[in-house]
Amino acid sequence: MKHLFTAFFLLITITATAQDTYLHCGRLIDTKAGKILTDKTIIVSGNKIIKIENGYTTGKKEDTYIDLKDKTVMPGLIDLHVHMEHETNPNAYLEKYTNDEADVAFNSVAFAEATLSAGFTTVRDLGGTGVNISLKKAINKGRIDGPRIFTAGKSLATTGGHADPTNGSSRKLIGNPGPKEGVVNSIEDAKKAVRQRYKNGADLIKITATGGVLSVAKSSSNPQFSVAEIKAICETAKDYGFHVAAHAHGDEGMQRAVLGGVKTIEHGTLMSEQTMDLMKQYDAYLVPTITAGKEVTDKAKIQGYYPEIIVPKALDIGPKIQSTFGKAYKRGVGIAFGTDAGVFKHGENGKEFGYMVEAGMPAIATIQSATITNAKILNMEDQLGQIAVGFLADIIAVQDDPTKQINTMEHVFFVMKNGKVYKKQISTM
Ligand SMILES: [Zn+2]
Repeated sequence: MKHLFTAFFLLITITATAQDTYLHCGRLIDTKAGKILTDKTIIVSGNKIIKIENGYTTGKKEDTYIDLKDKTVMPGLIDLHVHMEHETNPNAYLEKYTNDEADVAFNSVAFAEATLSAGFTTVRDLGGTGVNISLKKAINKGRIDGPRIFTAGKSLATTGGHADPTNGSSRKLIGNPGPKEGVVNSIEDAKKAVRQRYKNGADLIKITATGGVLSVAKSSSNPQFSVAEIKAICETAKDYGFHVAAHAHGDEGMQRAVLGGVKTIEHGTLMSEQTMDLMKQYDAYLVPTITAGKEVTDKAKIQGYYPEIIVPKALDIGPKIQSTFGKAYKRGVGIAFGTDAGVFKHGENGKEFGYMVEAGMPAIATIQSATITNAKILNMEDQLGQIAVGFLADIIAVQDDPTKQINTMEHVFFVMKNGKVYKKQISTM
């Protein structure tokens, strides 16, 4: 019996290593060089890219062949700003009181599938209740299909700040959330809150450096942390190998965040030229989230979609995000692709490319932003963001050449993550 088992496992191992996948690519984006190559074959073994050959080559008969000769192939996309636990809907504000964690968890399964199916093989989740940590684990174990997740767990805010979990609640429910729930009001709280995120299983830290549009609070853009508090967060985060992302619409709050040491500024809506220069100096990146800006502007015009206090904020902030992004890009601020999916429907992340191009960023640069730049921010630049030998086999394909037709990024035909094919709307040979 023991021998039988050994023989069985041996057979599995041999089959797994012997069978490679050959992807025949008509166009292949070299994200490092910013060029489109033609007629290439990518060879995948296990979860890695092991070879890239000129022309359409073949291996053994038992190998798998995937025909992408009339497609544009590129590395799996990375979105640095999503919320996998939620998706916009007219009842979203009520759901905070009616949904249990299990409801949130089951809903997030479909959001994760939609994201992966849209070609986003990696995401950074910038805040939920903590279910996003369990979601990451379930995906890593192969229980459900979804992108590779780097998560902040629960965002950090000050009392009444954009990510205070009890904003808008009646006094009976409001309680007094502290660092454990991500509410920070001192340097000591800041350290505690970061260490708690580490304990909970987060991969990075998200702070809300200014007011926000969708929280039930008056200001969309006032500063909400002191530089000293942000510094304490960033320094403690460093001890755990975490970087810090800061939500910010207002200029003062975002300046404090950059001075405090955050890696990315989310939205950046009212960014001054002085802050743009500061970002360059501090090697901080702007994550534009233009799609979210457009979505909140549209939804605010629907009577009753958002609570009343949110409508003027959405109409003020939403339309400004795209033009600020354009100015920051032209001034040389590093741009890290991110959408704020969840504020709009998961799986529509690809719309952001078109909006970025519209604001003046070349198509190839938008794709580099969503691949090599984002891989670098996640400290994964040796494994993600390129189709290169030794890299993880995260590979996607769209129909057209995105440098000629950027909206092709909204229609992903083929998705491979970690060497496994999740979507293939084409025939194999
Ligand atoms: Zn967000």
